[in-house]
Amino acid sequence: MHVLVLGAGVTGVTTAWYLAKAGFDVSVVDRQPEAALETSYANGGQISISHPEPWANPTAPLNVLRWFGREDAPLLFRPHADAAQWAWTFAFLRECLPHRTRRNTAAIASLAVHSGERLRALRAETGIAYDHLERGILHLFFTPEEFSRAGAKAAELAAYGIEARLCSRDECLAIEPALAGGAGELAGGLYAPHDESGDAFRFTQALAERAAQAGVRFHYNTTITRIDRTGGLMNSIEVRDAEGRTGSLTASAYVLCLGSYGRALVAPLGEHLPIYPVKGYSVTVPLRDPQRTPSVSLTDESRRIVCSRLGDRLRVAGTAELNGYDTSINPARCQAILDWLEMRFPGATDTTRARLWAGLRPATPNNVPLIGKSGLLNLWYNTGHGTLGWTLACGSASCLAGLMSGRRPPVHNFPFLGNEA
Ligand SMILES: Cc1cc2nc3c(=O)[nH]c(=O)nc-3n(C[C@H](O)[C@H](O)[C@H](O)COP(=O)(O)OP(=O)(O)OC[C@H]3O[C@@H](n4cnc5c(N)ncnc54)[C@H](O)[C@@H]3O)c2cc1C
Repeated sequence: MHVLVLGAGVTGVTTAWYLAKAGFDVSVVDRQPEAALETSYANGGQISISHPEPWANPTAPLNVLRWFGREDAPLLFRPHADAAQWAWTFAFLRECLPHRTRRNTAAIASLAVHSGERLRALRAETGIAYDHLERGILHLFFTPEEFSRAGAKAAELAAYGIEARLCSRDECLAIEPALAGGAGELAGGLYAPHDESGDAFRFTQALAERAAQAGVRFHYNTTITRIDRTGGLMNSIEVRDAEGRTGSLTASAYVLCLGSYGRALVAPLGEHLPIYPVKGYSVTVPLRDPQRTPSVSLTDESRRIVCSRLGDRLRVAGTAELNGYDTSINPARCQAILDWLEMRFPGATDTTRARLWAGLRPATPNNVPLIGKSGLLNLWYNTGHGTLGWTLACGSASCLAGLMSGRRPPVHNFPFLGNEA
C-alpha cells in the first residue's frame, strides 16, 4: 500500500521510517528543501522521559498571571483577536484541573518510556550519529520551596517506571562539575540517569537519508495547498513547487505530520485538530572551555530553561509564547536565555557567536499528541507533540505504523485516536 506522509520534521521522517520497515510503500512531501528545517531544527535536544508533566497543570494559571506582560517570562500569553487562540487557551485552562493533569501525565509517560526504547533500538540498528549523549538529565531547583516538591515528583515518576533520584546540591555538583562556576542558589536536583540528549536536526537528516536508501521517496520544495476528499475518503493533495507549478499527489493512505500547520489544512474537511503554535527560542553557542561546559543535559525547573551539549556546541532553549504563527526573533527573549547561560557557566562558551533561533511547538492544550485515525477512512494523524516531539518521535511513529498494520500498540494508558486494535 502506498502511504504519503505529509511533513518531513522529526515526526514525519520517523513515521516514514517505521512505515517502510512495516512493509508500506512510502513517500514524504515537505515544503522545505531538506528534512527538519522547521520546529525540529534547533530544539532543546533533550530526550526527556523524566518530564511527562504537561504545562497545563494546577500551577500554570497562577504563573501565567504572575508573568503576564513580562518580556523575559518563561510562559507568555500575547492575546490576539484570534478565535483559535482563545479556544486553545480555554481548553488549556480546563486541562489544568488536577485529575486531567494526572491522566495526561500518565499518557505521556507511558508513550515516553516506549519511545526511549524505540530510539535505543533504532540507534543500535542504524548506527546513526547525531551528537547524542547518554548522560541523563539533571533537573535543577533554585528555591527550597520548589525543591521540596521534587520528592513527590520522583515518587510519581517511579510509579510510571521512570527512575529519577533526589540529589542534594553537592550531589548535583558531583554529577555535573561544570555547575560549580555558577550554581548560585541551587537548592537541589532530581537526576534521571536514563534520559539522553542529542541533535534532533542531525538525527532527522540522517534517518531521512537511511529511509531514502530503503526506498522512501522524498518530494521536497513542495507545498501542500489543499487536501481533497470525496465522501469519507481523502483522495489527493494539491501541491505547488518552488517554481510555482501546481499539481496533485495521490496515495492509498495519508499521514499528517505538519507541525503547527496541519490544523488549517484539515479544517475544510470538517476535521478539528486542537493544535496551536507555542513559540520557543534557542541559542546555540560554540564552546570556549569544554571542562566548564555541562555534558549532562540540564533543566532549570525554576526558569523553564534546558541545555544540552551537542558535540562542540551547547544548545540552550526555553520560553513559551502564545503569539500566533510569528517566528521572528525577539532580542529580549533571547537575551534572557543568554543571560542564564553566562550566569550559570561564566566564560565557558562564546556567546558573541550565538546562533539565535525561534520555532513553533505544535501544541495540543494537554500536550498529549494526536496519534491514530482521523474521521476520514484513509487519513491518519501523528502530530501535536508540543514540548516533547523529539522525546516522543520514535515511539509515536512506531505505534502509528503498528496501528496502520492493524496491531494494538504496546503502550497502555495512551488515548490513540480511533482506538484501532
Ligand atoms: C525552543 C524549543 C525547544 C524544544 N525542546 C525540545 C526538547 O528538548 N525535547 C523535545 O522532545 N522536544 C522539544 N521541542 C519540541 C519539538 O522540537 C517539536 O515537538 C518537534 O520538533 C515537532 O516536530 P514535527 O515533525 O511535528 O514538526 P516540524 O518539525 O515543524 O515538521 C513539520 C514539517 O511540515 C512541513 N510543512 C508544514 N506545512 C506544510 C505545507 N503546507 N506543505 C508542505 N510541508 C509543510 C514543514 O516544512 C516541516 O518540515 C522543542 C521545541 C522548541 C520550539
